Amino acid sequence: MPEIPGVRVAVIGGSAIMGSDFPRGFEGVEIIEDGVVYDTPFGPTAPFTHASVDGLEFLFVPFHGITREIRNTAPNSAAERVFYVLLKAEVRKILGCALCGSTNRLLDPGDVVIPDGFVDYTTKRAQSLTRSLREKGVDVDIIMYRLHQPFCPTLSRLLIEGAEQVGFRRVFRRGVVGVAEGPRLESPSEIRLRYTNVGVDVVTMNLVPEVLFAREIGACYATLQLVSNYGEGLLDTTWSGPEVFKEFRERWCRPAAKALLWALREIDPEDMSCGCGGHRWKTMFP
Ligand SMILES: [Zn+2]
Repeated sequence: MPEIPGVRVAVIGGSAIMGSDFPRGFEGVEIIEDGVVYDTPFGPTAPFTHASVDGLEFLFVPFHGITREIRNTAPNSAAERVFYVLLKAEVRKILGCALCGSTNRLLDPGDVVIPDGFVDYTTKRAQSLTRSLREKGVDVDIIMYRLHQPFCPTLSRLLIEGAEQVGFRRVFRRGVVGVAEGPRLESPSEIRLRYTNVGVDVVTMNLVPEVLFAREIGACYATLQLVSNYGEGLLDTTWSGPEVFKEFRERWCRPAAKALLWALREIDPEDMSCGCGGHRWKTMFP
């Protein structure tokens, strides 16, 4: 199995850039190594790409590290495997992305939300990378963390600028993401009672545990949430899955990838003045 390289920046792909061929085929990107599967205590990872843009090296893994063989549910989940690699690589800046459903009546398909808050409705996800590692017999300190400022303000600002630069019509600078367990979509009553009525703006499925694990390893994290459809019962009941997602791939996935790349180019991997790395500590409990 290949050795994990020392890299400070990572992009975790999601449905928002599927089919865009990110990062290959984008101007200024050089592929250092492609299709690299790393060994982890949780099993082998999805294939990573080690690349650089304008001399800045980064690691990329598509679709949250989920494959036909690797699920997003614990144990041995995609995120546990991906973040073991990011921990060993000593990654400090992470960009994520996903398609989401709107649960706020003001949001339309094609809108971008760079969130500043989230509510976790998942039930089957790993909650602590360091505890998962201990269960595998790896001798690590158990890390506790606060979720004050869960999304890095500096990286979020870069994603906002990137989305505006590449031509998204409406880019929202704040918003609350509800994270659903899935894999099914929600009923109209669930959208109303669990999301809309309590002030959640969009719903997606794989923000957790990425946002948690990033904090746990001391890295900054921000995400681009691209609205692909209305939450069930919110407005329009006529959309059909295959059509809406096909249209999205064609119209929006490449611009979303370009927005990520724009942000990536502007990252200063050494700048931790945002304070994200400080909201964690070794637990005093066994
Ligand atoms: Zn930060």
